[in-house]
Amino acid sequence: MQELTHWINGEHVKGSGRTADVYNPATGEVQAKVPLASKDELDAVVAKAAEAQPAWAATNPQRRARVLMEFVRLLNRDMDKLAEALSKEHGKTFPDAKGDVQRGLEVIEFCIGAPHLLKGDFTDSAGRGIDMYSMRQALGVVAGITPFNFPAMIPMWKFGPAIACGNAFILKPSERDPSVPLMLAELMKEAGLPDGILQVVNGDKEAVDAILDNETIQAVGFVGSTPIAEYIYGRGCANGKRVQCFGGAKNHMIVMPDADMDQAADALIGAGYGAAGERCMAISVAVPVGQKTADALIDKLVPRIEKLKVGPYTAGDDVDYGPVVTPQAKEKILGLVQSGVDQGAELVVDGRDFSLQGYEDGFFVGPHLFDRVTPDMDIYKQEIFGPVLSQVRTDSYEEALKLAMDNEYGNGTAIFTRDGDTARDFTNRINIGMVGVNVPIPVPLAYHTFGGWKKSGFGDLNQHGPDSFKFYTRTKTVTARWPSGLKEGGEFHFKQME
Ligand code: NAD
Repeated sequence: MQELTHWINGEHVKGSGRTADVYNPATGEVQAKVPLASKDELDAVVAKAAEAQPAWAATNPQRRARVLMEFVRLLNRDMDKLAEALSKEHGKTFPDAKGDVQRGLEVIEFCIGAPHLLKGDFTDSAGRGIDMYSMRQALGVVAGITPFNFPAMIPMWKFGPAIACGNAFILKPSERDPSVPLMLAELMKEAGLPDGILQVVNGDKEAVDAILDNETIQAVGFVGSTPIAEYIYGRGCANGKRVQCFGGAKNHMIVMPDADMDQAADALIGAGYGAAGERCMAISVAVPVGQKTADALIDKLVPRIEKLKVGPYTAGDDVDYGPVVTPQAKEKILGLVQSGVDQGAELVVDGRDFSLQGYEDGFFVGPHLFDRVTPDMDIYKQEIFGPVLSQVRTDSYEEALKLAMDNEYGNGTAIFTRDGDTARDFTNRINIGMVGVNVPIPVPLAYHTFGGWKKSGFGDLNQHGPDSFKFYTRTKTVTARWPSGLKEGGEFHFKQME
């Protein structure tokens, strides 16, 4: 049994108290124990980060960027090793695990532009003899709390920009798959990051609450489920921190009658069942417009779903998706499937009896497809986070648009159509943060920003892209006049620039 650690001041440090089980979801075995930090442990780590941070902030941005440049090289060097560790704890397929690392790596590449992104504004002669300039300065010690479903990408989305801006970063990764975050911290050290600038503190609610209450921590970035996002946002803000929290999702894909049905069905298969549906940008609701479109879509989806290969990451490229992350996740998904049946949805593809020879104890869930789902059903209202696709039939574009707009979540959505007018109307009117036109999972690239609306995002500014440099810095504006301009004597009113 492997005993995992924290990463403090550039070293692996054992925990001193409670632990949690880390599974291999494919076999169902507990493969490691992860320490769960106490409040005292967290506070001690923050104090060390605070000692290290001023020197890092004073290191010029080009030198900070060079550490990230080297980190990118090391990520590429260790790509297979990272992906293997990721698949083994999370369960996703090996190519998907590489994608997880890759999408984080791309944000680090963006952060190499820190010298440019941190440049301030300057106004020459804002008044007679007066110059005015704004600069962006690091916040100090900041923290990130991340979910299980992207254990490489999301930590990098957080610590990349934070560290590039000159902050020290405390990462509290998911306790379900903590190994890759620890490996990333090792690589940052190898890349030349000074000790104390990236600390990985493993833990659960106790460590999270300690982060939220710690007075030194200036900002908290969170990604995870909506109830926890709301909780963290409220408590962090009440304690005077800058907080951004990204929550759960229920992403709708509208299929217009003029869409290419094969293309739409292929898109739904990848976006609905890829990574066993454990993506915040997964499509969980298919919304065909018109009964004919709905029937055609079911006809196209069923044979594709029947061909899906579910298995362990060790089976290589031959697998479409793997197990879900824990036995509790499997139980929750199957419970919701049962509720769908009980509440009258039509279970067109039933994956409940799925079992994989040799992996009977793994947390595999067969693919499910529901038709004739209605908005009052639990399978529509709740985020299932499993390989379950629900079809809600609508009779018009307006009805489909309204359905997506009335949903409490607003992370991602997509429309499949050949009609430019419809697509344009949809992208303009929809109240959702990330929109795809004939693209089912519209995850923005590193140099744009990522963020949902409504109950999928709390606080200001998005993740990665230019917003992340704003989130992890604060603006200071200087108005400067040299002594020759002070000959006029004191001023007692609000000065207008002359
Ligand atoms: P989760 O909310 O259970 O956990 C996220 C983090 O919060 C973990 O680090 C966990 O330790 C911590 N946490 C859990 N319970 C807590 C509590 N009671 N108090 C304080 N901290 C707590 O989420 P998860 O299951 O790890 O991840 C899946 C969820 O994340 C899904 O809802 C998914 O949609 C969402 N997600 C959202 C985005 C996005 O950008 N919007 C991206 C990825 C995942």
